[in-house]
Amino acid sequence: MRVQFWGTRGSIATPGANTARYGGNTSCIEVRSARGTLVVIDCGTGGRALAQKLMTNNAGGRGTILISHTHWDHIQGIPFFDPLYVPANEWDVYGPKGLRESVREVLSGQMQYMYFPVSLEQCAANIRYHDLVEGSFAIDDFRVSTRYLNHPTLTLGYWLQVDGATLVYACDHEPYSRVLGLGEGRIAGEDLRHADFMQGADLLIHDAQYTAQEYLEKMGWGHSPVEYVLKLAEHAAVQRVALTHHDPRRDDDAIERLMAPIRRSTSVDVFAAYEGQVVELKGRPNTAPPDLRGELAEIPAGKEVASPLVLLRVANRDISGLICEGLQAESIRVRPLDNIHEAVVSVAQEYPALAIIEHDPPRTDGIAICRALRRQVPEHRLPVLLVAEREDINVNGTAGISDWLINPFTLAQARTKVRTWLLRTAHKRMEGRTDAAEKGVASIHRFVAAAASPGAGKGRKLPRALDRRDVQGRPGIDSDKAALLWMYGREIADFDSPAFSKKLGEIIADATSNVRRKAG
Ligand SMILES: [Zn+2]
Ligand SMILES: [Zn+2]
Repeated sequence: MRVQFWGTRGSIATPGANTARYGGNTSCIEVRSARGTLVVIDCGTGGRALAQKLMTNNAGGRGTILISHTHWDHIQGIPFFDPLYVPANEWDVYGPKGLRESVREVLSGQMQYMYFPVSLEQCAANIRYHDLVEGSFAIDDFRVSTRYLNHPTLTLGYWLQVDGATLVYACDHEPYSRVLGLGEGRIAGEDLRHADFMQGADLLIHDAQYTAQEYLEKMGWGHSPVEYVLKLAEHAAVQRVALTHHDPRRDDDAIERLMAPIRRSTSVDVFAAYEGQVVELKGRPNTAPPDLRGELAEIPAGKEVASPLVLLRVANRDISGLICEGLQAESIRVRPLDNIHEAVVSVAQEYPALAIIEHDPPRTDGIAICRALRRQVPEHRLPVLLVAEREDINVNGTAGISDWLINPFTLAQARTKVRTWLLRTAHKRMEGRTDAAEKGVASIHRFVAAAASPGAGKGRKLPRALDRRDVQGRPGIDSDKAALLWMYGREIADFDSPAFSKKLGEIIADATSNVRRKAG
């Protein structure tokens, strides 16, 4: 695998004599396999020089652009990417799907009449646009996986494997744990999953716009301190690390001053990427087959995510106001989460995509609420975003917290967190989805939720078995028994697996036949 950097600057192009060594152009990387497959990762202003090289060498006839996100510094090269204007050329452009808007729509936005003289529609090449969520896919001989990063807009990291070598691109990204970002604490929760994503990579290209000291002032801006990147790389046994997305205020001398002590302090093979730099990755013969479980990353054109519902339990008016503004901007329905029972019923009937719960002890103990919720609803059924002043990653695993939204936060951060978690489950909530297994599970959910209801049997439409009475006229299955069945079922197997459905079906059939015998 051959990797070439065409843009290493973050945020805004920074040309001039003081940035000539590391380069002033924004993010763009060219990747080629031995067979010649061309993949371009991000197309910031660095994309223009790459485009010119491709035109000169007559090598831009076919290729793929992977876009991490649509902030300007990652897409401004697209209007200047000449191969897209050549009629016979074939290009594929991939990027993160929005909740409503497609990659194509967002890209055409920056080429509207008021911003640019040529529209995206006037690009004469045959261009196919692809909307991605988390998952996996293939580009000719490349295997690709995606994972959401932590940034104020929806952003994907890319894992690429070809010729036995693995490359991970994670830009732009901020530590999930701010404590970890400041150089303390251990890698856990979402940061651990981020580390797993880069596990064993031959080359990690990572956002490293700040130092830990600078990060103190830049929390929430969506970028990483160098120290955090090295900690991750060490943990994930990465072979080499390229630091990129250099801060526009850091000139060449400042980058070199920064790198000298870093190289001395780590065992990781690390360098600051510079414009024009080429890195050849030798394939390793024993490369493990890629772990590409999970869904296909691409959402087919025309498929829309069903109108999502979010359960909300936030008492603080300022916080709930900001969150509701964010949800409204995304046209997301909100339902208050007043008690666990209602949440269980909602999960069974309405498929909420996320619960947002405030944690502000001693006034409100969001962790305890999350624990109580988890006794009824598994995490993959309903992720929980906890809003708090600081994260407590030590409780993530035991309380079933999926992610943290640290207060204070901006509207953009709240929207992105919500988008990320909604799109993580997008495949399950495609409009018109009629998956039989999904329906089967839903009916069990409804059965148990109804049976567990305090008012079960009174005015509720219950499965017939529950309407039956024993010889003394008592209900066949009371709510406690139903709750026990639920929990017993969860002990047996993963909640959504066919094994679970089958076993729980048997238990219910058994229980209801006893009722029938008694009733008879
Ligand atoms: Zn950027
Ligand atoms: Zn960005």
